[in-house]
Amino acid sequence: MSKYIFVTGGVVSSAGKGVTAAAIGKLLKERGFDVSIQKLDPYINVDPGTMSPYQHGEVFVLDDGSETDLDLGHYERFIDTSLTAVCNVTTGQIYSEVISQERRGDFLGGTIQVIPHITNEIKRRIGLVPQTMKAEVVIVEVGGTVGDIESLPFLEALRQMRSDIGRENTMYVHVTWLPHIGATGELKTKPTQHSVRELRSIGIQPDVIIARSDYPIPEELREKIALFCDVEPREVIPLTTCKILYEVPLVLEHEGLGEISLSRLGLIRRCAPDWSEWEKLIAAVETDKPKVRIALVGKYVELQDAYMSVCQALQHATLAVGIETEVVWLHSTDLENDKGWKDLESVHGIIVPGGFGSRGIEGKIAAARFARQNQVPYLGLCLGMQVMVIEFGRHVLGSESVNSTEFNRSTSHPVIDLLPEQGSITEMGGTMRLGLYPCKLVPGTIVAEAYNQELVQERHRHRYEFKNTYREIMGENGMVFSGLSPDDRLVEIVEFANHPFMVGCQFHPEFLSRPNKPHPLFRAFMESVVARVQDLTEEESKTLYAEQSG
Ligand code: GLN
Repeated sequence: MSKYIFVTGGVVSSAGKGVTAAAIGKLLKERGFDVSIQKLDPYINVDPGTMSPYQHGEVFVLDDGSETDLDLGHYERFIDTSLTAVCNVTTGQIYSEVISQERRGDFLGGTIQVIPHITNEIKRRIGLVPQTMKAEVVIVEVGGTVGDIESLPFLEALRQMRSDIGRENTMYVHVTWLPHIGATGELKTKPTQHSVRELRSIGIQPDVIIARSDYPIPEELREKIALFCDVEPREVIPLTTCKILYEVPLVLEHEGLGEISLSRLGLIRRCAPDWSEWEKLIAAVETDKPKVRIALVGKYVELQDAYMSVCQALQHATLAVGIETEVVWLHSTDLENDKGWKDLESVHGIIVPGGFGSRGIEGKIAAARFARQNQVPYLGLCLGMQVMVIEFGRHVLGSESVNSTEFNRSTSHPVIDLLPEQGSITEMGGTMRLGLYPCKLVPGTIVAEAYNQELVQERHRHRYEFKNTYREIMGENGMVFSGLSPDDRLVEIVEFANHPFMVGCQFHPEFLSRPNKPHPLFRAFMESVVARVQDLTEEESKTLYAEQSG
């Protein structure tokens, strides 16, 4: 029988519930348990794959090709386990399942209701996690905040689970936010009290309250929350905003949440947690380091969550190579309008991440041109690889009409074109080339050296691909096809022979980067950035290494 930890949120969204759920997973994993984490999303979309990145941030992709909420990225990075389709459930999925059962006649004329039909389906979905994955402890996070109409069926299902499977197998964690009143310099607990009251009115008494804040939380507030919310003071865990996300499990450990969770669930620790690697990360953040500037040329830069995994992967690599990175957010449409160029000229490396649609594409192409002509390290991720190919195609073929058919259907040179199997697809959701695919690396290339492997597996999410008719001419002019599908049919990675590091990959390496295992491509990119800084001027290089050895 698996044990369950249910994580709900109160007061405001974006308080860090997803990271908290991931960190609790890490506490249990460090104690020797198999952990899986599931997100229940109250929106009616079937999955976030068709949603604008402006609404919910990045779409995270799993090995099995599921398009999921970005919190699954946090889960995987913290517990270092590949999650599967069962780990992200939306209201849309629940209703479409129940409605199709009803249409099939499965309910024999019965009235279909939220309780019990919808709640039963929610509980069935939760049960699928331990049935299909190795999970002694299942952590279930409910999206949104308590008080939302939409999340009520999920909360009701969680309430029922305590009596279904027993008190000793369930634990409820409520994550709230303490607002800070600037005029008096005080933190307030009232919204937390209200949120817990709301949760109790639904029938859920939290076992632990995690109080989030940007400011240190005085001991008396902890006691006050405990008193008003019927928990012990040690079960109120203060969690002040950390310097990096990977500090959160260390804070929760220090506050005793690991042992509180075990005793609540009747589990006995199998091994002592070893935090040495994560402590090293925090120490690395706190050390003074030389700083580099990396441009992130995107089209959704107003909402940085749209690039969550890219930023995390960059941070992992940055910490590993011992420097500090300032991300310079550049809007690709600005570059089209003669804005942002000063910033682009001041950076030590350029990342062009994934994206869809023609807005801002010329700005991305211009950034790729700048990187090629000025030997600036460049990492192109999916669309970032495609713009690298378009830019080079324009240069080699001497024609500005070179393009991807995504942006110009009638281009005379479609160097990037729809994958053959994508041609007949009309439905939007879940129809791209999705999930893990093998890629063989060509010996002697930058990427073969970076990975130090012959065959790698990477996660994809795209409809378009390099068009093979252009392989010869581009190859003759210095483009190296350094990663190919095992049957040679698809170009997965390109790089340039005459450039220190200009690499574009058709997949998303950012999804597989881990805090203590930075992705080889991000790491190699950052190493080339350091090398460039070193080359720039003697002055800069002196400072870099003086600071590093100091
Ligand atoms: N829009 C491009 C395609 O569909 C790139 C997708 C991406 O960057 N994820 O192929």
